[in-house]
Amino acid sequence: MDEKEIFIALTGNPNAGKTTLFNQITGARQHVGNYPGVTVEKKEGVYSKDGKDIIVVDLPGTYSLSATSLEEKVTRDFIVNEKPDVVVDVVDASNLERNLYLAVQLFELGAPVVLAFNMVDVAQERGYRIDIKKLSQLLRVPIIPTVGVKGEGIDELMDNALKVALSGKKQNVKISYGKELEASIEKIGDLLKSRGMLLEGYDTRWIAMKLLEVDEDIMEKARASFSGWFKTLMEEVQSERKRLEKLLGDDPAILFADRRYGFISGACTEALRTTSEERHTLSDKLDAVFINRVLGIPIFLILMYLVFQLTFTVGAPPMDWIDAGFGWLGDAISGLWAPGAESALKSLLVDGVIAGVGGVIIFLPNVMLLFLAIAILEDSGYMARAAFIMDRMMHKIGLHGKSFIPLLLGFGCTIPAVMATRTIENERDRLTTILVSPLMSCGARLPIYALIIPAFFAPKWRGPMLWTIYVIGIVIAVVLAKLLRSAIFKGEAAPFVMELPPYHMPTLKGVLIHMWERGYIFLRKAGTIILGVAIVLWAITSYPKPHTFPEQIRAQEASIERAYNQEVSKIASSLQVPSVQSFTKALRNGGISTASLGEKASLFIGMVKEIQGIETKFSEETDGLEEESSAYKQAKDKEEKSLGTLRQRDPSVFGMAQRYVDEIDAKYQEKVASLRNKQAAYTFDYSIAGRIGSLLEPLMKPLGFNRKLATPMIGAIAAKEVFVAQLGIVYAVGEADEESTPLREKLQKDYSPLQAFCIMLFLLISMPCIATFAIVRRETNSWKWPFVQAFGLTGLAYILTLIVYQVGSLLA
Ligand code: GDP
Ligand code: MG
Repeated sequence: MDEKEIFIALTGNPNAGKTTLFNQITGARQHVGNYPGVTVEKKEGVYSKDGKDIIVVDLPGTYSLSATSLEEKVTRDFIVNEKPDVVVDVVDASNLERNLYLAVQLFELGAPVVLAFNMVDVAQERGYRIDIKKLSQLLRVPIIPTVGVKGEGIDELMDNALKVALSGKKQNVKISYGKELEASIEKIGDLLKSRGMLLEGYDTRWIAMKLLEVDEDIMEKARASFSGWFKTLMEEVQSERKRLEKLLGDDPAILFADRRYGFISGACTEALRTTSEERHTLSDKLDAVFINRVLGIPIFLILMYLVFQLTFTVGAPPMDWIDAGFGWLGDAISGLWAPGAESALKSLLVDGVIAGVGGVIIFLPNVMLLFLAIAILEDSGYMARAAFIMDRMMHKIGLHGKSFIPLLLGFGCTIPAVMATRTIENERDRLTTILVSPLMSCGARLPIYALIIPAFFAPKWRGPMLWTIYVIGIVIAVVLAKLLRSAIFKGEAAPFVMELPPYHMPTLKGVLIHMWERGYIFLRKAGTIILGVAIVLWAITSYPKPHTFPEQIRAQEASIERAYNQEVSKIASSLQVPSVQSFTKALRNGGISTASLGEKASLFIGMVKEIQGIETKFSEETDGLEEESSAYKQAKDKEEKSLGTLRQRDPSVFGMAQRYVDEIDAKYQEKVASLRNKQAAYTFDYSIAGRIGSLLEPLMKPLGFNRKLATPMIGAIAAKEVFVAQLGIVYAVGEADEESTPLREKLQKDYSPLQAFCIMLFLLISMPCIATFAIVRRETNSWKWPFVQAFGLTGLAYILTLIVYQVGSLLA
C-alpha cells in the first residue's frame, strides 16, 4: 500500500442508519468538531485494517445534493473539494426509491461510490425482495446489504469500500434526460467548453445541468470565475430554460428530478419485487397495467395497431384532397398550352415536377399523423414503457430494450431512428441498431408498396402482402442484428437501467413541435432532394428524343390505319355516305355536324356514340368488382337492358353499330395501344435513362428486372419515394402517384407477380436513401459505417432477391 492516507466519507438520508454504521465501523475512536466556517457537526473516526488506519467522516444526512440547505452544501463541497477516496452512501433499503435519489446525484457528481443497503432486516419484514446482484450491475456500483444495529455486513462493506478507494474507479452511469433536456445540456455544455469556462472539480455536463436547474451555489461560483462571459452564459441558460418550460410545461429543475426518479424507478422495477403490493402514485398505478408481465405486450400491440389505423384511416381524406389538388394543378398547367401541343416546359412541369413531388407530398398526411401519434406516446412517457417491456425480447437478439424505440421510429423514417440511438450508451449496441434500422420499412417505401401490391394481388391478399413485406424486413433485421452482435460487435449486452420517467400529460405545444420537427424533414426532402432528382430523372428519361421511328414501326402504323379505313369505308358505302373522309372523322372525334352525311349515317353515328356511352358506363360501374358479385351482375343486366332498348329503336342500324364498336373500333384501339407501347419503348431506349438501363440490364436481369427499372432504382437511392415518381415518368403516363391506374396496368403487362414481389423485396433491403447515409455518417462520426451499411445492405438485397427470383421461377 502506498503512503497516502485513505479516507472514506459516509453519506445518506437522515435516519438511514449512518451514525449507527459509523459507530460500528470506528468503534470508540472518533471525535466531533465543526466543519470549517459553519456550525454543522463534523464527526471523524478511524477504522483499522491490516495495521493501516483509514479515516472515516460522517457527513450530514441529506436527501439531495441540490445545495439548497446548509447540510447539502457542506456535503457537496466536501465531496468535491476534499475528494474522499470513496463515498459510502448509506441507503435505507426499506425505502429504496427515495433513498437512491441521493445515490444518483452522487453518481452524477462523478464520485467513487459504494452503496450500503442498510436496514435490510426491515426491508425483508415489509416484504421486499431486492435483487442486489442485478441492481449492482445496473447501477454499476458495489452494493452491500447491512444491518447497522447488529453490525452485519460491516466487514464486507469495508472490503468493498477499500477496493474502490484503491482502484480509484469512478462511477460511470449516465442518466439520459430525454431529447429536449439533453439538447439543452449539450448546448450549454458546448458554450462552456468553447469559452473555456470550467470549474475545478466539476465536469462540464454537470455544470450545464446545475445552471439549467438554477443551482445557487454553482451560479455564484460561475459568476466569480467566468467574469465577462457570465452574462452571455446566463442569457443562453435563460433562453434554454424558457424553451424547456414551454415545451414540457414544467420548471427544468422539476424535469431533471423527474428523470432521475425515472431512472431509479426503472432500475427498481427490474430489481425490486414486493410480496405486499405497495403502490401509491398514479405513475405506479398506471405502470401496474402498462408494464404488467401479462398485459404489457398485448396493450402495446393494440396501441401500435391504433397508431397505424389512425395513420391510414384519418389520413385517407386529406390524401384524396392533396391528390385532387395536384391533379387540378397539373390540368391547370396543361391548360396553359393548346390541347395536344408538345412542349418541353409543360412536360417538365407536369410529368417531372408535379408527378414527382406531388406523388410524394400525397403521403404527408400519413407521415404527420404517424409522427403525431409517436410524439404523444413519447411525451406521455409511454414509449419508455414500451422499451421496458420489449427489453427481454430484445435481449434474445443480442440487443437492449433501448434499441427498440429507434427501431420502432424506423417505421416512420430512418433518420429520426438513427438519431434516437443516442440514448444507447453501449457503442456496440448502438452501431448494430443503426446498421439494421433501415430494414424497418420506412414511410417512404409505403408508396412503392401502395403502387405495386394492388396491381398484382387480389384484394383479399393485399393486406397480408403488405404485412409480409414488413415482417420480412423485421426478420432480416433480427437475423442481421444477431449475426452482427455475435460476429463483429462481440461482447455481452451490458445491463443498464431502462428509465421509467413519471407519466406526464403531454403539452399540445410540445406534441405539435415534435410532430412538426420530424414532418418538416419529410417536407423539406420533397422540396429539395426529390424535386431536384425528379427534374434530373425526367430530363434523362425525356432526352434525347428520336426524330422518327424505325421503318418497322412506321409500317405497322400505316397498316393499322389501312385496315381500319377499309372496314370503315365498307360501312360508309353500305350507308351511302357521300364523303368517307368526313364520315370517319365524325365517327372518331364526334362534335362534327353529321347532317351533311345523310340521315342513315347520322343515325349510325348517333347509335355508335350511345353504345360507347353505355359500355363506358358499364366498365366504370364494374371497376374493381368480381364477376361473380351481385353488383356486377346487376350492372350487366342494366347494360343489356339499355342495349336492348337501343336495338328495338332501330334494329337495322343497331347491328352494324354494335359490330363497329365491339369489333372494328375495339381491335383498332387495341392495335394502336400496342403500337404506342412500342413507340414509347423505342423513345425510352433512345433516351439517356434507356441507355443506362441497357447498360445495367445484364446485372438486373437475373433478379427479374428489366431496363426500365434501372433509373427508378437509381432514383430510389436519392429518396425511396422517387421510385414511384420515376416509374411513372418512365412509363410516360403523365401521372405518377400511387393511384395512377394506367401505370398499374402497364406494370401488369410488363411484370409477373413474382417479379413485382422481387422489386419490393429489393427496395426494402437495399441501401437506404442518401439522407440516411448522411445522418449515419454524422452520428457514427465516420465514413466507414455509412459505406458498410450502404454496400452491405445492397449486396444482401441483391443476393436475397436473386435467390427468390431464381427459385421462384423454377417453381412457377
Ligand atoms: P442517521 O440519521 O442516518 O445517522 O441514522 P441513525 O444511525 O441515527 O439511525 C436511525 C435509527 O435507525 C436508529 O434508531 C437506529 O437504531 C436504527 N437503525 C440503524 N440501522 C438499522 C438497521 O440496520 N436495522 C434496523 N432495524 N434499525 C436500524
Ligand atoms: Mg446521524
